[in-house]
Amino acid sequence: MAQEKLLLIPGPSPVVPRILDVLARPTVSHVGPDMVRDLKEACENLKKIVFCENGEPFIISGAGTLSMEMALLNTAGPGDRVLVLSQGYFGDRMAQICKAFGLEHDVIESEWGRAVTPRELDQGLKARNYNVVVCTHVDTATGACAPVEEYSQVLERTGALFIVDGVCATGGVPERMDAWGIDVVLTAAQKCLGTPPGLAILVLSELAMEKRRILPAVPAYYSDLLRWLPIMHDPSKYFSTPCVNEVRAFAEATRIIMEEGLEERFERHELYAEAIRAGLAALGFTFFTNPSFPASTLSVVRYPDGVDDKAFRAGLYDHGVVVAGGLGPTAGRVFRMGHMGNLTSAQVRFAIEAVERTLAGLGRAVTPGAGRGAVDGVLKA
Ligand code: PMP
Repeated sequence: MAQEKLLLIPGPSPVVPRILDVLARPTVSHVGPDMVRDLKEACENLKKIVFCENGEPFIISGAGTLSMEMALLNTAGPGDRVLVLSQGYFGDRMAQICKAFGLEHDVIESEWGRAVTPRELDQGLKARNYNVVVCTHVDTATGACAPVEEYSQVLERTGALFIVDGVCATGGVPERMDAWGIDVVLTAAQKCLGTPPGLAILVLSELAMEKRRILPAVPAYYSDLLRWLPIMHDPSKYFSTPCVNEVRAFAEATRIIMEEGLEERFERHELYAEAIRAGLAALGFTFFTNPSFPASTLSVVRYPDGVDDKAFRAGLYDHGVVVAGGLGPTAGRVFRMGHMGNLTSAQVRFAIEAVERTLAGLGRAVTPGAGRGAVDGVLKA
């Protein structure tokens, strides 16, 4: 078996043994009592994770892109106009999905590394009427976190449904659906929620469900949330066979989140982001993301002059840590390090020490212990 590496790409995140153990249990009936109990518990916990009292949770085999598609298809139809706030790669994907389904839409784009500002949103809403507004909470290509709470204050006056792509945020960054008036949080299992990839996850507000009910027909079958609703209410019913092991592992992941506490989990993500950035800065790296929009779930890191992307990532891999390269216009100029999910402070320290050893191996002059010292200064324990 290949030696295990610490997986610090911006998703999937490392999966802790407690979740892997559940995944490895014998497969049970998809409509039997174990599955009924676990899916129900996962749904209840999911609502707590996004601070939604009365909405409808959906946990469906698939991935984040399916949840993006489902969110749009079930809230917008003929005669609606969608406004996409795009801060990069995944906002652009949202616009592509609108296009694929013939949904009328406009896009407000920010520069890469920033997010659309609430002011720009306000201007967009003054220029035209929109039924649905959709944003990416954290863009995984740029590391920028959108000011979702401020968007919702702007949107309050409009009556438009508000969809948030939380694939790189949910469970690591606050998404307070009720308090902020978010109508859909769409997400996936493999990032801050800490489960292996394999689930499309959504929570719809009562308003979003009402909208689904008045839409004429949804141009989809599997993606029609009204077909899934009875299953989420009573998992002993059948619509399409769920990935049983993955759903049960996800239920365990939500238990871990409940045990940690949501506010504690958000704070831990902030703390580890700060520690990792302090460690990387002490080793001579700088950051791509505009400092007004930092996400606590990943860092997009610029190389110091003379450090080659491929050589650095290969060296780091040999020292036990996997990071990702840049996407789109940042390719070759940055690496992306995820720090989300059920990470530990020991893993944060290990990662920075591995970066230091990698730089030394590439012949760079580094002060021994500089990265680790900066990390310890933030973690203080
Ligand atoms: N949205 C965001 C913000 C993402 O980061 C990703 C995946 N990196 C997706 C959507 C798509 O998710 P998936 O790859 O699971 O389809």
